[in-house]
Amino acid sequence: MPITTEEANKIKEHLLTQLDNFPEDKREQIAEQINSMSDEQIEAFVKQNKLTHLGGQCIFCSIIANKTKSYKIAEDKDNIAILELMPISKGHSLIVPKEHLEKTSESTNSLVQEVSKKLKKKFSPQEIKINEIKIMGHALLEIIPIYGDETEKRQASEEELKSLQEEILKPSEIKIEKPQEIKIEEIPILPPRIP
Ligand SMILES: [Zn+2]
Repeated sequence: MPITTEEANKIKEHLLTQLDNFPEDKREQIAEQINSMSDEQIEAFVKQNKLTHLGGQCIFCSIIANKTKSYKIAEDKDNIAILELMPISKGHSLIVPKEHLEKTSESTNSLVQEVSKKLKKKFSPQEIKINEIKIMGHALLEIIPIYGDETEKRQASEEELKSLQEEILKPSEIKIEKPQEIKIEEIPILPPRIP
């Protein structure tokens, strides 16, 4: 079965998060190449490469394994909530079950309710739309706050995503179980010895 445009876009998004692995002067060129690929080319690419950098996993499994960068805004035992990288509106997020399943469960729905409530309080949208989607066989729920001025999907910048993440998390009763980034402990530098 050929992949859908939605899936192809998700794979593109994922590939674009991997640009840090390339030399800086090549990144722009590679990003252009990725963006210009058709759905068929993306599909062929995934097959050819067996997405080995994902360890044979789907994008969301890779996010859950902390192998792919994401902007987490909530988490519970069975699900994580992350910001969509190509949002339609402010607060557009995905609630991703930690298990790669064909259908989402009641627990996913309860995190959706929790995050929706939070987004309503923070950003006062007119309404909140919830869609069940399946990307690379991984079922998840999408939360789209509607403000009435929605346009096209667009790539959000890293700064935008970071500040939105902060805004949603502070002052927060939602606890993040795992730290977002691995912190490298600073090695104290000893002052030079004067002989
Ligand atoms: Zn998965």
